[in-house]
Amino acid sequence: MCFSALPCGAESISAPVFGAQTGFAFPVECKLGETCYIQNYVDHDPSQNAIDFTCENLTYDGHDGTDIALATQANMQAGVTIHAAAPGIVQGRRDGEADGVFANGGAVTGVECGNGVVINHPGGWQTQYCHMLQGSVAVTSGMRVDTGSVLGQIGQSGKAAFPHLHFEIRHDGTSVDPFTAGRVNDTCGKMTDQTTLWQDEPPYQAGGILSAGFSAAAPDYTDLKAGIWPENPDKNAPALIIWTYGFGLRDQDQIQLTATGPNGFQFDHISTATKNQALFSRYAGKRLPNGAPAGAYQAQITVRRTDEIIDSTTVNLTIAP
Ligand SMILES: [Zn+2]
Repeated sequence: MCFSALPCGAESISAPVFGAQTGFAFPVECKLGETCYIQNYVDHDPSQNAIDFTCENLTYDGHDGTDIALATQANMQAGVTIHAAAPGIVQGRRDGEADGVFANGGAVTGVECGNGVVINHPGGWQTQYCHMLQGSVAVTSGMRVDTGSVLGQIGQSGKAAFPHLHFEIRHDGTSVDPFTAGRVNDTCGKMTDQTTLWQDEPPYQAGGILSAGFSAAAPDYTDLKAGIWPENPDKNAPALIIWTYGFGLRDQDQIQLTATGPNGFQFDHISTATKNQALFSRYAGKRLPNGAPAGAYQAQITVRRTDEIIDSTTVNLTIAP
């Protein structure tokens, strides 16, 4: 079998050794599963379909890097630092491309990477960093960098539908998946001898909840993507809504929203996804014609995939009399 985004018949490559460091360091200063998450991995499918190295669908056709995404645009505006993943020499850089052009329907032909940096490492290795924040690129061509040197900040320049870093590792000019050390996954989950190019491999999360809460009305999806959460309801709320915002939803995933509160307040709502969604939001609730009774409320949000829980969270709310 031959794979589109990876070299045909690739054998695994040993992780490179850079002085005291073996493998590539995680290049973003963020907390995985909290302030950032891996949205897309390298595509291992030769057809027009796409699978990541675990045979899940956190990738798209021909994707040849690892996309480290921010939960919200507010995170991006707060500034999230990108570091060099290994020591090397900056081969090239670009800055000056505006953020959000592609997401707003603008043309990015020829500048798909947006603001970016390419670093040459010893042994034929190269790393590329794309979609950086306009004006943040902190290195120049020919500059020597170490692991952890600041390259700039996560942005949304070039062909980026959401704020993220496209991080790509190449060996002798060919893209390699760091999670399998360039090996193609033709056994779907049975890679017993799987190796890694990471110094400390980030855990795989097949999707999950980024935020959740209570509100008095349906949340605005644009606001959620921007990181603007709805305000908590008070005793005059015309309804009590549970909302959640997350990533990596798959067709047929189940999202359960349950809540309990004073005076027997409760509901239990389950919805089933009808398509894959890179980012998603769901909400459910109850009308309260006489306002919300004072007391303690608790909501439970659970995302299931073929009956297995992939993420869950609990939210508490107190309504004052
Ligand atoms: Zn990418």
